Amino acid sequence: MSDCLFCRMVSGDIKPDLLHADEHLLVIRDINPQAPFHALVIPREHIATLNDLEPRHADTVGRMYLAARDLAAAQGFAADGFRTVMNCNRLAGQTVFHIHLHVLAGRAMHWPPG
Ligand code: AMP
Ligand code: ZN
Repeated sequence: MSDCLFCRMVSGDIKPDLLHADEHLLVIRDINPQAPFHALVIPREHIATLNDLEPRHADTVGRMYLAARDLAAAQGFAADGFRTVMNCNRLAGQTVFHIHLHVLAGRAMHWPPG
């Protein structure tokens, strides 16, 4: 997947602002933050969209949420709250077609999200 931005980060071809990495995931700072704190939890495996999830990915997706939980706690946002978002395809505004969980914090979030 040499044309995928996040695969290029996983391979080391592009160096993100890395917050955490392990054998399953990268956690990076978003380059265009939409809140005082905005990170992306990215699986090492290329999965294009939420529509492409298969049962074998359940562990990976679970780990993505555990990483978001740990990140929010480590950054001091767990008690006040934070938001996780995964956009899927055009109407949700997905721009990078390798799934990623947005973790947004540091301000009050709106609902409905718009
Ligand atoms: P989405 O629109 O849900 O697909 O989210 C893609 C996210 O990737 C956006 O929030 C972008 O700001 C972010 N992004 C794009 N390029 C980079 C990059 N080089 N480093 C970090 N974040 C990026
Ligand atoms: Zn990819």
